[in-house]
Order: sequence, then C-alpha cells, then structure tokens
Amino acid sequence: MKSVPFYRPNISEDVFRQVNDVLHSGWITTGTKVKEFEYKFSAMLGSTNGIAVSSGTAALHLAYIVSGLKKGDEVIVPSFTFCSTINMLIHVGAIPVFCDIDEQTLCLDPLDIEHRITPKTKAIVVVHYAGISADMDKINELAKKYHLKVIEDAAHAFMTKYKGHYIGNTNNIVCFSFYATKNLTTAEGGMVLTKNKKQAERIRLLSMHGMSKNSWNRYTKDGQWKYDVLFPGFKYNLTDIHASIGLGQLNYAQNSHTKRLTIAAEYKKRLVNLPDLFLPEDPPYKDSEHAWHLFTIRLKDTARVTREEMINKLKSAGIGTSVHFIPNHMQSYYRKRFKKIKLPITEKVYGSILSLPMFDTITINEIDYISKEIRKILK
Ligand SMILES: *Cc1c(COP(=O)(O)O)cnc(C)c1O
Repeated sequence: MKSVPFYRPNISEDVFRQVNDVLHSGWITTGTKVKEFEYKFSAMLGSTNGIAVSSGTAALHLAYIVSGLKKGDEVIVPSFTFCSTINMLIHVGAIPVFCDIDEQTLCLDPLDIEHRITPKTKAIVVVHYAGISADMDKINELAKKYHLKVIEDAAHAFMTKYKGHYIGNTNNIVCFSFYATKNLTTAEGGMVLTKNKKQAERIRLLSMHGMSKNSWNRYTKDGQWKYDVLFPGFKYNLTDIHASIGLGQLNYAQNSHTKRLTIAAEYKKRLVNLPDLFLPEDPPYKDSEHAWHLFTIRLKDTARVTREEMINKLKSAGIGTSVHFIPNHMQSYYRKRFKKIKLPITEKVYGSILSLPMFDTITINEIDYISKEIRKILK
C-alpha cells in the first residue's frame, strides 16, 4: 500500500452526464435544476421547503438573519465546530456564548447549555458533530422553556437519523453544506430547510439581493425585465451546474450512506481492544443512525504517543488525517475578544482527536492498512 488520502471524491458517470446536460442547455445559473434539487433534497429528508444557496456558510448566515438574531443577542453555540458557524454570528452582530460538549457524542451538552442561558440569550446553534445527532429532545425542551430559537448546523448530518426521523424533519431551521468533502457534495453549495413557508420565502429573497419573486428568470423567454428590490439581500444563490452535481449525487445517496455504515463497522472491528484508543460510538438514542461524515478516534491520556506524533507517523505511512476542529475560542480573534473562556471537555477532546480517512470509495485493503499502522504506532 502506497498511500491513502484523507478524502477522495466520488463522482459518478451520472453526475458527468447531468452537468453536461446543463452546460448544453443554454441556462447555466439558478433555474430548473436548482428547483428540482431543492424539491428532491427536502422531500427526501422530510422537510417542506428547501432553499439552495452557494455554501453552508451562506445557509447559516441567512438562517441567523431570519431567526431575528441581531446586535447584542447572546447565542449559545459549541466552540467545537468549523469557524463559519461562529463567524456568521459575528456578522449579524450576535455574541457567541461558547458552550461545552458531551464527551460521548461530542455535541452540545444540554446541562452546560442551561448554565449559560441569561436574559439576553436568543438562540441555540446545534452542530451534529461528525454525523451523530445532538440530544435534540433535551435541547428543544430547553428552547421551549426559555423561549429560544434553535438553528441546526447539519453540515455533517446529511442522512443522520434521530429517533426515527432524518435531521431536517423538524420545526427548527436546518443548514446543510455541500462542500467538496461533505457526504453529499456540489463542490461548493448549501441548503436551508424550514417547514415555515413564510420564512422560506424570506430566505429565498435574501439569497437573491432581496429582489422580488421570479427575478431569477428575467432573462428567460417567459421572464419579465422588471424587478424590484424589497430589501438589501445577498448574492447567495446556487447555480444549475452545481445543483446538477447534487442531483446526480442524490441518486446514490442511500448507497453511499450504507457504505459509510459498513466502513465505520470495519474500522471498529479492526481497532477494537486497543487500550489507548477511544473509538467513535453509535448514537445513544433509539431508532437513530450516524451519518459517518467523519470517523474520529481519540487517544487516551495513557497513550504513549501524542496526537501530533500519531499524525506524523501516519503521514510517513502515506495516510492522510485531519483534526476536526480547532476550537474557536482558541483562535486568535475569539481568544482576544472573549478572554479566559474555559471549556474543559472541548479542550481535552481537541488535544486528543484525529479524523481518519472516511469516504464511500475507501477499500477494505485501505482500511486494513490504516488499522494495522495505527496498531503498530500504539504498540
Ligand atoms: C463545512 C462546514 C460548514 C461550512 O460549510 P461551507 O459549505 O464550507 O460554507 C459549517 N459548519 C460545519 C460544522 C462544517 O463542517
């Protein structure tokens, strides 16, 4: 075995065909393919409205705006997430209140959420880390008790199941990312799901300059040249080219999901009984399913190698790994702005985690090789 990359995209012939069709169609930006993608994606996950946007970050930005978040509002959010979850809060003027995570799921700890609620708290932003759902019943209950909005960052949670339903089938606003490494990709892209039709319309307007309905088709045969700007919006729309990549990927999403379940099980079989390792666990709720966006292992304190040594040794063996995530309260901007934040579980987990290659075309031979190298390092 020469090497295993951290990630290898899986683009089927069907995707090439769909993109080719769009390029030949005479209409390459937001149009019928986006509509079809929005409809199929939201229907598959059990939602009623999908608004496709240019990135997961854009999805979060719009979700924060339509949730009414504004200057001075406190928002409870994990530090243990990608920076865009937090950055977009800053752009609406809200104050991120970093919250610690549960050591088993690595998602928000409901007990710590409640400790951080103040009269200024307006919302909770949930991240379904690596593809496992946060404890949504408890979080929704807290939100109800304290009259808070809940926004779900589901960038890792395409096809994650929580107590019998998919993430996205809920009354909260749910944001997906279709970045290149995500479980479903359009190269770049995102989607907001909401069951509130009014909210969906506002998100759509905001994603297109705040221009009145149907302005997107002003250059088509049936389009109108007239348009009206109702309020200043953004340029966050997805193109038909990207949507067609997504449509192609949707056709084998179930297949890809099933493969990920198998890959996680194969990793676990090979890495079991290593005394220095915590393996990622299945969801602790009934009728729930992990999406296995990431396969994140953790070194115990007793391990004779540090996480850095582990990364370097795997790198020498040609194995790509990554760390998800460097907590945001440890990043320069947030460290300077919010001094003396202590999140014991987040910090401990960050120091010991490592994400292994996890993509639907990884082979059993590759999993074998990676597992053997890890066993060698920990011996
Ligand atoms: C990838 C990711 C995002 C951002 O998505 P983009 O499409 O890259 O803008 C947000 N949150 C989390 C947790 C992510 O992993």
